Amino acid sequence: MKADAGPEGSYVAGGTDLYPNMKRRQQEPRTVISLMGIPELKAVGRSDGQAAGMTVGTCVTLTQLSAHPAVRPTACHAVAEAAELVSTPLLRNMGTLGGNLCLDTRCNYYDQSYEWRKAIDFCMKKDGAICWVAPSSPRCWAVSSSDVAPVMVAIGAEYVLTSAAGERVVPAARFYYNDGINYLTKQPDEILSAVRLPVADGWDAIYHKLRRRGSFDFPVLGVAAWVRWDDDQVADARVVLGGVASHPLEVPEAGTGLRGSQLEPEAIVRAAEAAFRPAKPMDNTDFDLSWRKQMTRVYVTRALEELRSRKTTAHR
Ligand SMILES: Cc1cc2nc3c(=O)[nH]c(=O)nc-3n(C[C@H](O)[C@H](O)[C@H](O)COP(=O)(O)OP(=O)(O)OC[C@H]3O[C@@H](n4cnc5c(N)ncnc54)[C@H](O)[C@@H]3O)c2cc1C
Ligand code: SF4
Repeated sequence: MKADAGPEGSYVAGGTDLYPNMKRRQQEPRTVISLMGIPELKAVGRSDGQAAGMTVGTCVTLTQLSAHPAVRPTACHAVAEAAELVSTPLLRNMGTLGGNLCLDTRCNYYDQSYEWRKAIDFCMKKDGAICWVAPSSPRCWAVSSSDVAPVMVAIGAEYVLTSAAGERVVPAARFYYNDGINYLTKQPDEILSAVRLPVADGWDAIYHKLRRRGSFDFPVLGVAAWVRWDDDQVADARVVLGGVASHPLEVPEAGTGLRGSQLEPEAIVRAAEAAFRPAKPMDNTDFDLSWRKQMTRVYVTRALEELRSRKTTAHR
């Protein structure tokens, strides 16, 4: 069907992102191909292979994912928790994991009605030539605003991509690209068919989200932190930020600085400082951008403190 529809065909799952975008003429597919009737995309189960964890089909809704007994009580609970923080119950009942991981990037100059965008002569993401956020910039700075994507990158999940040419598997981090227009590396005909969650072997992960209304809004900052424990020491760690770039932004220095620590306050301060530096929110979402940057320190600190406190409680 996609081959027949060509570039003017678009996949849809829950439609909670695509349909509002179509109403605003940000996306204008002539053919919309629903994935929701494919039972294989709703399956959740063990992956093949020795070291494999859980495989989650991408048409699982966010409501199902956030409560799923094969995900919520496991090491992957951060995935379920991030899914539960998306928007409202109604949107989580319709919205899917796949749609969330492929979510269009967002910007105050783009997420507007057609007439509003026309009045400013559009912008380079759709129908125009200029970027209103950074007028001399050759690229678009629209923001990656998925809640679940930073968690997938942090825990090292793998994405299964399926097309008529076959199947390939990519690490979550390689699925995203830091460009507001071409923000995914997948080919247009590829379906994100499943996500492979890693097996639980001594790691823990967490997601904290900053937004204006706790009941509703997109993240203006998301912090996903992952730690592999070796007894009471951090053997490895990753810190990934959402809402501050056009892709989920991993800050390698923050993770490296935590290795060998016990997440003591000094180590957390170092990691929070390392995450603060590359976080460069642009003036194209909610809140003042300098305040959002300051909040990176606060949210990384809180996330790591919670991981430490969970470890301490587990030891008692
Ligand atoms: C008011 C409002 C608030 C929201 N708040 C949040 C929020 O706080 N956090 C957040 O993360 N999101 C939020 N969203 C966005 C959205 O609801 C969710 O991200 C949802 O999970 C999207 O899933 P969907 O199935 O509805 O996607 P769809 O709209 O069906 O698809 C989104 C995009 O992904 C593509 N796609 C979908 N599934 C696949 C697949 N399996 N393979 C390949 N391509 C695919 C579609 O072609 C489309 O381009 C909000 C939306 C609204 C309207
Ligand atoms: S960042 Fe610039 S080009 Fe991208 S959507 Fe916003 S105004 Fe348009």
